[in-house]
Formats: sequence, structure tokens, C-alpha cells
Amino acid sequence: MSKHFVPENLPTHLQHYIGGKFVDSIGGETFGVLDPVTNQDYATAAAGQQADIDAAVAAATEAFNNGPWPKMKPRERANVLYKIADAVVAQQDRLAEMETFDTGLPITQAKGQAQRAAENFRFFADLIVAQHDNALKVPGSQLNYVNRKPIGVAGLITPWNTPFMLESWKLAPSIASGCTVVLKPAEFTPLSASLWATIFEEAGLPAGVFNLVNGIGEEAGDALVKHPKVPLISFTGESSTGQLIFRNCAENLKGMSMELGGKSPAIVFDDADFDAAIDSTLFGVFSLNGERCTAGSRILVQRGIYEKFVEAYAARAKNIKVGDPHDPTTQVGALVHPEHYNKVMSYVEIGKSEGRLVAGGGRPENLPEGQENGSYVAPTVFADVAPDARIFQEEIFGPVVGITPFDTEEEALELANNTKYGLAAYLWTNDLKRAHNFAQDIEAGMVWLNSHNVRDLRSPFGGVKASGLGHEGGYRSIDFYTDQQAVHITLGDVHTPKFGA
Ligand code: NAD
Repeated sequence: MSKHFVPENLPTHLQHYIGGKFVDSIGGETFGVLDPVTNQDYATAAAGQQADIDAAVAAATEAFNNGPWPKMKPRERANVLYKIADAVVAQQDRLAEMETFDTGLPITQAKGQAQRAAENFRFFADLIVAQHDNALKVPGSQLNYVNRKPIGVAGLITPWNTPFMLESWKLAPSIASGCTVVLKPAEFTPLSASLWATIFEEAGLPAGVFNLVNGIGEEAGDALVKHPKVPLISFTGESSTGQLIFRNCAENLKGMSMELGGKSPAIVFDDADFDAAIDSTLFGVFSLNGERCTAGSRILVQRGIYEKFVEAYAARAKNIKVGDPHDPTTQVGALVHPEHYNKVMSYVEIGKSEGRLVAGGGRPENLPEGQENGSYVAPTVFADVAPDARIFQEEIFGPVVGITPFDTEEEALELANNTKYGLAAYLWTNDLKRAHNFAQDIEAGMVWLNSHNVRDLRSPFGGVKASGLGHEGGYRSIDFYTDQQAVHITLGDVHTPKFGA
């Protein structure tokens, strides 16, 4: 028997939440949910099918058409959102434990996520109260104003890497806007999503505004995407899934917001603050077990400091503490699922013929007792990786990084842009002009100068190229979930050609 930590009162069965009630799938279907340190099932979850999605969409449609939520004053909605934020914070320890148990993320990194999720609700509460829209006057002839209207039922489909927090990115703006929603969380990690129902209920969100359907992407997710009464799909996940969903949304011309994969470069010039760049580029790829869309997983280093950088980086990577996710000293935990572990391990093997292995390269030693079968991968570093290598082009989404040298700024830019992705980029230089010019030229939705990913919630989040479509963050999210209806009022005489007179 494993001796690993198990949260108290851990549910052994996870249900859907439809129209204010916890329910199983109509046909009784379920799937198994495992914990990644033992890879043993600890619970079953209801597996949503077409009929369950139909029921959830019907509840959300009823709440949208006949319920109070879409018509409530922004201040009234905001008051509920503040209560939701407080309830999320009140559960932060429980949430972190559950998230770590279900995903394998180190507990210290799971801990900040409740605060961030709560902040999303506070932020959108403030935004809807402060929001104003255009009113344009054409003197003597016309007044034009904008009616901001929630669009309807939003389908929200989320990944497993930081489940609760990423769900909050979609739940907060959609609900704040007055939409009603059906959330389909990732099947690898359904545990924390079950907390939302009680949090929302206690905060006073009317029944039917929030609906949750667990299930497999190709079943429940697909049914949601194709549902004719769901005009919006907000999706975060892999680029290839995004492409498929894009095609499936076309039939009904749905609004889509897509946050997809990445293979983001970190570019370190030889004038950079060396120690800060080492700290930051290590954190940038090995935090969240490397399972982060914005991971700086391609490191480009200027020739003058290249060998010194590789040596220092490898030494630190070898020293990263891998182990029990619940141990507060752990820096890299267990990958989410054996399927994902196998994918990451296959890239570790591919990397051995594509680069010089300088750290890791397999399973870590000295795994905690009882966790010998867990999905653990040692932080792995390959140097001298060719720009067209698979480990330099394909998203691995694990604790694996490639490093390659460059000589000139032009070469660095070419290498940085040489991928189908365009999510984030991290630039390390103390040359002000170079930093801003490079930022301008790089094909990435987000650029950090001399930092890893630290984002103010007001700024746009999103990628270009295969990394996404549209932006989340701030009023851009509100734009996605609302229609801006233009109303034109005639104040003077309208010139009307007299057809047929
Ligand atoms: P995934 O694409 O496999 O799954 C994401 C979600 O889509 C899951 O809920 C899944 O059940 C659902 N899904 C799968 N197939 C579907 C279908 N045919 N129709 C409808 N829904 C379907 O992604 P993942 O493995 O869960 O997450 C990892 C990926 O997410 C990585 O590529 C990562 O870069 C990306 N990601 C991006 C961001 C971002 O903001 N850009 C953030 C986090 C993760």
C-alpha cells in the first residue's frame, strides 16, 4: 500500500451538476479517475453523453431566457461574484490539496491558484460595474449608442494542467457578462471542478447559470461543441484539438476563443543578467512540472555565454527536487497521467538522438516509498539541439528543455520565430533598444522582457499562429461573451430617396 497523502473526505464518485442538482449520466456511464503518484483509480466520474449535454444546455438555456441572471444590474451580479471570490479563498487549502492530489502539481505551486482564481472573479466584478460603452452623437442628426448584451449559453472546455484556475478564466468573465454556461473540464482532472457547484450555490448564483458535465473530450466535449443552442465555445487545450473544434463549430458559425499550445523561446543575450536569467529560465520550464502552455521550452543563448550557461543550467536542473507533490520542498511532482507520461518519455528518448543530454533523461532516482510507479520524469536538459529537431519544434508539455546557441540578433530572431507556435517569448538583455525592437518583431502573443510569465489580469492573454485565436483577459473577455448591439436614433430629418414615388 502506498503511504501517500490523501485529502480528507475525498469523493469516490464525481457527478455532473445540471440545473442546480448533482446528477449522474442519464445512461449511467462512468470513467475512472486516477492519482498520478500511484496511477491507481481513486474515484469514478459520470461520463457525459449527448443526452447529458442536451440536459445541461436545456438548463442553461432556460436560465438564460427566463432566469434573473442575464437581466440583473451589473452591481447585483458583481456582489455575487465577490461572494464567489471569498468562498474560493476560504477553500484555498482544501483546493490546493485536491488539485495536487489530482494533477501531481507540487503543493506550493497549487497553493497560489485559489487566490488567482478568486482574483478573476473580483476583477470581472469590478469591470462590469465600471464598464461603459460608446455613445456617439452626430450633431443635429443622429445619436448612436451601444447595448451590451450577453450572447447566451457559453460552452467552456478546459485542460488538466491547472484545472481550477483555468476554469476560473472562463467562468468569471462569462458569468460576469450575464451568460449562462456549460463547463466540460478535462477528464484527467475532474476533482476540483466539483467544488464550483457548491461555491456558486452558496454565493447565490441562480440555478441553471452554471452547469457542469464531466466526460471524455470526444464524447461530452464534442456534443457541447456541436450543440446548436450553444453559440459560444471557449476552449483551452492542444492546437490539434483546437483545429478539430474549429471545424466542428463552423457548421453553426459559433463564436470561438482558442487558447492553444506553445513552444515558447527564451532568448538570452550575452549582456543579460546571467544569474537572473538562469533562475528564471529554469522556473519558466520546470514549474508546474513543465505542464504549462507558456513554458519557455526552447532556450536560445548567445555564443559568448553559451557553454557557461549550459553548464550552470544543467547543474541546477540536476539539483531540482523531484518527488511527492504534497511535500512542500518538492519542486517537480508527478505528471498528470500515464498517457501523458508516455508521451513525454517518448520525447526524452527522441531527444537523445537530437541533442546532447546534460541533465535527466529518464525516471528520477529515489522515488518516495509507495510511489515507485508514479508518473515521474527527471528534469531533462538537451544542449546543442538543431533548430529543426522534433524536441525543438513539437510541444512536449513536460519537464524537458532544449538549448541552442546563436551568434547574431538576426539569427536569434529567425530561430525564435522558426516554429508553428506563437504563444509567449522571454527576452533576456539589458539593451533597451534591442529589447523593444526584438519584442516588436517576434511572433508571439505575449513577450516578457527579463522575466518569466508574470501577468496582470488586465493585459491580454493569447497566442498567434498555432497558439490561438482571440484573447482572454480584461475587457477582451467581456467582448467575447457579449454582443455590442448598435442603436441608431434619428434626431433630425433623414434623407430618404423616394423609391417608386
Ligand atoms: P486537450 O486538447 O487534449 O484537451 C483539452 C480539453 O478538450 C479537455 O477537456 C478535453 O476533454 C477536450 N476535448 C478533447 N477532444 C475534444 C473534442 N473532439 N471536442 C471537444 N472537446 C474535446 O488538451 P490537454 O492535453 O487537456 O491540455 C494540454 C494542452 O493545453 C497543451 O497543448 C497546452 O499548451 C494547452 N494549454 C494552453 C493554454 C493557453 O492558454 N494557451 C493554457 C493551458 C494549456
